[in-house]
Amino acid sequence: MTDLTAFIAGLPKAELHVHHVGSASPRIVAELAARHPDSPVPKDLDALADFFTFRDFAHFIDVYISVVGLIRDAEDVRLLTYEVARDMARQNVRYAELTVTPHSSVTRGIPDVAFMEAIEDARTGAERDLGVVLRWCFDIPGELGLPAAEETTRLACDLRPEGLVSFGLGGPEIGWPRPQFKPYFDRAIAEGLHSVPHAGETTGPETVWDALRELRAERIGHGTSAARDPELLAYLAEHRVPLEVCPTSNVATRAVPSLEEHPLRQMVDAGVLVTINSDDPPMFSTDLNTEYAVAARLLDLDAAGVAALAKNAVTASFMDAPGKARLSAEIDAYLAAWPG
Ligand SMILES: [Zn+2]
Repeated sequence: MTDLTAFIAGLPKAELHVHHVGSASPRIVAELAARHPDSPVPKDLDALADFFTFRDFAHFIDVYISVVGLIRDAEDVRLLTYEVARDMARQNVRYAELTVTPHSSVTRGIPDVAFMEAIEDARTGAERDLGVVLRWCFDIPGELGLPAAEETTRLACDLRPEGLVSFGLGGPEIGWPRPQFKPYFDRAIAEGLHSVPHAGETTGPETVWDALRELRAERIGHGTSAARDPELLAYLAEHRVPLEVCPTSNVATRAVPSLEEHPLRQMVDAGVLVTINSDDPPMFSTDLNTEYAVAARLLDLDAAGVAALAKNAVTASFMDAPGKARLSAEIDAYLAAWPG
């Protein structure tokens, strides 16, 4: 372990862009598979580790779909959520806004109220036992169109669980223009939820503009293509709209050709508030600590630079002011005590 790797491992962190089902590690999948012996997912940890080794995007979708198939009842939801928090705690993640897609569980037959109770039970347990504060972003699976948007809005606004802070939009961008989702974001925003759609991951900067203008985005999921539009970068910097950057995911999905060609530095140089995130970590064979190491390399950062990046996530989060002050102070104290 290099000094910087060790620094990152112990650094208290916040994560703002990470998906619920996409965070199921082989260890968690083994536990879920044990509950459902009829599932085709391998149950042995070695076989699972192999199954989880990222090969290409099509393979990622296969893994993702098999994990979705293991989440059949409220106890699966609770177990997944709590165990995801355990994996976060091991990386010294203190706070995470987890993107949850309740639509996929509810349409697969888990009663909506039981789903909310399961995530909330996991949330309070994770905070109590593991010291990880979880908050939810409910996202619309965009590829399922307006009925899914309607249902996600109902789940968010009518059944609003205590930990819910934001409203998102995922799925493919090509063929699913952002403006059609405006009425659903309007309602969620009116109910006090923050707007955090994915945009500009697989399409050009115009999708990010749409997210800003039509969906009133307060943060952008990915926003990779914003780097191609200097005016947009200037807007994001001036209005302090943070980007949730997920470097390894961007390479895995071919949003960028390689890590070396990732526009992270351009974003930072333009003064944009950039946060580092892991997206679907075990499925892309990464974790948040690895993403910080990647960012440190691309931006040529030392320990103080990495700590500043960690504080960006605190600033960009929807934590309350005392929570932000506490986590920022914890990061400062950790840096001050670091021997380097
Ligand atoms: Zn994402």
